Amino acid sequence: MIELIAALRAALGVEAVLTGTEIGERYRSDMSGTGRHLPLAVLRPNSTEMVATALRLCGAAGAGIVPQGGLTGLAGGANAGSDEIALSLERMSGIEELDPQAATLTVLAGTPLETAQAAAADAGFLLPLDLGSRGSAQVGGNLATNAGGNRVIRYGMARAQVLGLEVVLADGTVLTHLNKMLKNNAGFDLKQLFIGSEGTLGIITRVVFRLRPAPRSSSTAFCGLGSFDAVLQLLRRAESEFGGPSAFEVMWPDFYDFVTAHEMTKARPLPQEHAFYVLIEHQGNDAEADPARFESFLGSALEDGIIADAVIAQNEKETQAFWRVREGYALDTLPAIVNFDVSLAIGRIDDFVSACRERLTARWPRGQFFFYGHIGDSNLHITTAIDYAPGEGMHDVDDIVYGVVRDFKGSVSAEHGIGTLKRDYLGHSRSQVEIAVMRRLKAALDPKGILNPGKVI
Ligand code: ZN
Repeated sequence: MIELIAALRAALGVEAVLTGTEIGERYRSDMSGTGRHLPLAVLRPNSTEMVATALRLCGAAGAGIVPQGGLTGLAGGANAGSDEIALSLERMSGIEELDPQAATLTVLAGTPLETAQAAAADAGFLLPLDLGSRGSAQVGGNLATNAGGNRVIRYGMARAQVLGLEVVLADGTVLTHLNKMLKNNAGFDLKQLFIGSEGTLGIITRVVFRLRPAPRSSSTAFCGLGSFDAVLQLLRRAESEFGGPSAFEVMWPDFYDFVTAHEMTKARPLPQEHAFYVLIEHQGNDAEADPARFESFLGSALEDGIIADAVIAQNEKETQAFWRVREGYALDTLPAIVNFDVSLAIGRIDDFVSACRERLTARWPRGQFFFYGHIGDSNLHITTAIDYAPGEGMHDVDDIVYGVVRDFKGSVSAEHGIGTLKRDYLGHSRSQVEIAVMRRLKAALDPKGILNPGKVI
């Protein structure tokens, strides 16, 4: 390993290779906080060629390489072991090209998502990929994990917003496909292999995003409903009546009551109790007519008894207050929380919530369990806060929640990826045959197993 570090220093320059006390604490873990070790070295290349050189040298030495972006992941996918080398893309940041005719944005993988969004907005476009950690998350990591977020219902997951990629393979080969065309069926769509592979098949270095027209209107409402069936009726009606919502977020009462009572939130959009709360947002292209159309849509849903109560945000401040409730940062103040990100067939989500709550409460009668999420995309988040007995912990609550997910034929990861934290449960959502094919792909592209070892599969 000493020879490898010396070779990396000679090839990349001393400033691109951090070791020992030069390695800051932030390289220890992603936002799951589960990283235990500082890596043996942190590489900070500033070009694709440097990434390729680093992979060639590490491959020759058989050293594991762990790609790191903004470290905002929640599945332990970017945590390195003490004998592994972290490869940070932080110096590969910047906008390369905005092509207004093709409506594409080409950026380096280490660019913060918010920077890419701002570049699109400055040119009158929308980069629809959006998530809470936009300020520090990097686009390379967003694609490596096929990030989701709040507007998937309208624009799809990260993979739906990418036209081209540049990727460095384990042996240092640079695979360049900076395609700008929406239609391209000339052979396998290789870029999709790397999107969502969590750095196990290659390292993304450049991205061509597909941009959309910036919306000219935005309307947001907070609704109270009496049943899950009514929630689904509201969703279907919104989809058929105004081209679909741009966000459809559902909160169960335990979540709503806790968050709105907390001083961090400072808002309770609906004063009365309801069985379900929905934050619905519509973005459109008609600044004049859209807000009135949105209001009459809600009015008719109210008349038809689908919603029990609703309030429309009158300005940006109220809109932000609604979103602050849904974001639920107050949950982070609870001790020993564990967050889940699962997916279920949309019609079964409430039955899943009941079954899951029952199993959790039976085991931990004094535990607190919160259910909420991007239900329009069939994505449910769960936060548990449990007073564990000695010897109990996260793995016990994982076993229960993922067991119910398996019973309901759901997915153990909707948008956060597998990383290390969910690896034991991949078989709950993927068949033996599917996992075997994943292993064959891994063996073909990374025969020495140097790319993000021990992650996903
Ligand atoms: Zn989410």
